[in-house]
Amino acid sequence: MSATRLHLLTERLSSLMRSQLRRVASAHDLKLVQLEALVYLSVANRYSDSPLALTEYFGVTKGTVSQTLKALERRGLVEKHQDPTDRRVQHCAVTPAGAAIVDEAYPAGCFRAIKTASTEDHADALEQQLRALQRANGFKTFGQCRTCRHFQPRSKGGRCGLTNEALSNSDATKLCREHEFPATG
Ligand code: SF4
Repeated sequence: MSATRLHLLTERLSSLMRSQLRRVASAHDLKLVQLEALVYLSVANRYSDSPLALTEYFGVTKGTVSQTLKALERRGLVEKHQDPTDRRVQHCAVTPAGAAIVDEAYPAGCFRAIKTASTEDHADALEQQLRALQRANGFKTFGQCRTCRHFQPRSKGGRCGLTNEALSNSDATKLCREHEFPATG
């Protein structure tokens, strides 16, 4: 796949997905930023579901994130709870009502017909493109464990070499604000 074709397809796909998000946000009387935060929180791991991680992921101010989370809490779409070991850290969990909206917004069904191997190839190509852009701009990568230099795979799930905590299979597929690609990968 040529770089130009990949770029054009990515741009078109991104624009269509954004339209889909706008339509679902409007149907549920949500602002786009509120729906985007909900979608992000539905795929963020336990190190990345905090207000701080939201500011880093979206590149917005703490004030914007605070207002967004308050609105989502008022609507019963997100619940906040304190970290059991570090009371300064707050986790934001998507409620079942919030998850139902995410299911509607995230067009996973569109991709089910694509063969798995092909989907993986496309995902790998997109990931390389994203990685290049993030490196060029000095952004955090917010990737999954399988491509992180700290990940230690085990027969079930794995271990995070950074926090030294166990990771379930489900944990390992979520987005992480501490994610770092291997230096030479
Ligand atoms: S292995 Fe990497 S991506 Fe996974 S939890 Fe640890 S720091 Fe995050």
